[in-house]
Amino acid sequence: MENKTIKIALDGPSGSGKSTLAKNLAKHYGFVYIDTGALYRTIGLFVSRKGIASDDAENIIALLPQIHIEMRLEDGGNAVYLDGVRIGEEIRTPLCSKYASDVSKIPAVRAFLLETQRSIARTNNVIMDGRDIGTVILPDAQVKIFVTASPEARAKRRFAELQQRGVETTYEDVLSEMQWRDANDSGREVAPLVPASDAIMFDNSGLDIVQTTQEAVKLINKVIGRC
Ligand code: C5P
Repeated sequence: MENKTIKIALDGPSGSGKSTLAKNLAKHYGFVYIDTGALYRTIGLFVSRKGIASDDAENIIALLPQIHIEMRLEDGGNAVYLDGVRIGEEIRTPLCSKYASDVSKIPAVRAFLLETQRSIARTNNVIMDGRDIGTVILPDAQVKIFVTASPEARAKRRFAELQQRGVETTYEDVLSEMQWRDANDSGREVAPLVPASDAIMFDNSGLDIVQTTQEAVKLINKVIGRC
């Protein structure tokens, strides 16, 4: 008999607090946290290191066979490895955000990363965060939550996060980069950022991360019946 795993899909725009929420939920339920954005960022990093422009789809596609990307489970979450080297903070820069958003528009890149994402969910209970988890990667997820917040609230959070990481930037730059990324991610033809038809919409603009987590736990418990 098939051992059916529990899958929770968390989708939403950048800065909605998805990743912190996903980490908290993974801890709460004892599930594995999967950050799918890290995969696109790692492809972006590889492409930028090769000196290829982020919109040069032809050369990016030609590069794919050279990219050896892996997700390994470490410390209850996923670690991304590129050519056997663990990827860290270097994928969190604004340049990598832009590259990730651009390379993620290429259907061949999305196809390249599909199985890596699905295979982990076949053998583990997961909380997976991304843009197309509920619509494309795990359409059979038992719980789908689409997390949103106003652009200003999201930019404020992202700015604080970048400052904490020591990345030099301004709130205005973060807001405009976020608006550019929102449009880029929502406007693309393949797997655009849209809620799945069966997703629960969750606006957390006025909530801090503790309240956001509490509310999400309530939503999830209602669906999967765990208390
Ligand atoms: O989540 P994060 O901000 O790290 O994602 C970086 C970029 O990767 C996003 O702006 C989006 O373009 C892309 N992405 C995607 N599909 C996912 C996760 C991320 O297209 N499932």
